[in-house]
Amino acid sequence: MLQTARSFKHRLKVTYPNGEKNVHSKSIVSFIVLALSSSALFAETLPLKSVNKAGAVIDAAIAAHGGAENISNLKTVVRKSDFTNIATGQSRKPGPPYDRNQAWNFNAIDLEKDIFVAKNKGEGGGYVFKQGTVINGQNSWQLDYRAGTAAPIAEPDFNTQSGPFVRVTPVLLMRQLQSRRNTSNWLGEADLDGRKHDVITLVMEVGPALALYIDQESHMLTRMERVLPPFGQVEYRFLDYTMVDGIAFNQKFQLYVNGDDNLIIDIKDTQVNVPLDDYLQVPSNLDKVAAITPAEFGSQEIDEGVFLIGGNGTYSLFVEMEDHVVAIGGTQTVPASIKEMRKEIADKPIKYGVLTHHHSDHVPGAAAYAEEGATIITFEENRQVVLKAAGNDQAKLEFVEDRMTLTDGDRTIELYNIGPTPHAENILIAYLPDQGIIFEADHFPQPANGMIPPAVPATAAFARRLDELNLEYTKLVGAHSPRVASPEDVKKAIGYKSASTVGGQQ
Ligand SMILES: [Zn+2]
Repeated sequence: MLQTARSFKHRLKVTYPNGEKNVHSKSIVSFIVLALSSSALFAETLPLKSVNKAGAVIDAAIAAHGGAENISNLKTVVRKSDFTNIATGQSRKPGPPYDRNQAWNFNAIDLEKDIFVAKNKGEGGGYVFKQGTVINGQNSWQLDYRAGTAAPIAEPDFNTQSGPFVRVTPVLLMRQLQSRRNTSNWLGEADLDGRKHDVITLVMEVGPALALYIDQESHMLTRMERVLPPFGQVEYRFLDYTMVDGIAFNQKFQLYVNGDDNLIIDIKDTQVNVPLDDYLQVPSNLDKVAAITPAEFGSQEIDEGVFLIGGNGTYSLFVEMEDHVVAIGGTQTVPASIKEMRKEIADKPIKYGVLTHHHSDHVPGAAAYAEEGATIITFEENRQVVLKAAGNDQAKLEFVEDRMTLTDGDRTIELYNIGPTPHAENILIAYLPDQGIIFEADHFPQPANGMIPPAVPATAAFARRLDELNLEYTKLVGAHSPRVASPEDVKKAIGYKSASTVGGQQ
């Protein structure tokens, strides 16, 4: 990965008039201040010059991507693509090389009517999915082909939903430039793959501003970037242009996050100005169910002294022991959950913070546990990932291999490694034998309400391990749901198995 980052830096040499080398707001400001002092007498101020220069670059780019008329007359775009996702921080093992997951994608956009359709199916991380989103005013739907459900979207947001597709489709970015040209600035020149580029900004309806690299000779968009906290720098590359009905479309796309490969898209088919009606209907074989509403942050006492606390799709389990608390789960809501827990258990320290696995969304809680002075329980393989997440080299770690028992003599918590599963090489569940409670992460996806979806491969592996371990339980809770499931729910999910393994065409 270091290699990628290094070559990435060599490839890209940005040169600004004042010698700064990065797209950095500070360098832009100092460039403006420097130039203003020497050119204050001229009528064309620097900001104006920058907007004018951007305007000239935009005009040439629009001409090269199909021409102002073609681009203005564009009504619909339909694209089918193959996605290869590089599962950085979400692979079965904690370090590189990361797993590559495949997905098939369909996107359709109607630019006049603010209609957007996205469908995708694929697999990865022990999951299989086949789903869709239709954004069409009052007729907006979330489709889940595996569960066989269609849920209405109460507040459809065309700009937010279509943004990811717009950002990977050059002609749609050109349309944005066309309509918002007065907000674009010329940032400077950059050498990219040995070719000179102009760098201009684009402010979209939603999200942080984009920097677009336009080749000075071909006037094509070849690169784009934006800074997206907390992920860092996202780099987009547009490759292999071809003309479709007089408009330039890239056939390949690559995304890098902080210089590392993140996503490769191979575009298989592009159509323009075709009607979208067929894509807007809810398929008749899907059941219309109630809208999904986000669950509010809160605490549930699952059993005496056992609290499931969280919100926004992430939860932790807190178990009150004789003179301390054991916390299980490592998602980003851990600090808020600890605060909430203090309303129930005011004066006992957290002695152990148990992390289920190494995935990037299940380790941020390590920082809060380290701050509490707790010992973090994880696998030895995860040492680096956990110390980094804790932001503290001195964080106290204790390693599990196959199982570990935490007890105060009265109450007992058993930790089991149920890995390897299709989701992670090593993964812990917590079992409270006296209360019949199991806490798991990422192996039993259960929506806050409504039907339990058919088992994914990770769920099947989880159920098999529960059988092997012969754990008797009545309540199953998880890191991503406020719902308390039962063994019957697990059986039901597994029962759908035949449906879950068939992908099918749509
Ligand atoms: Zn995970």
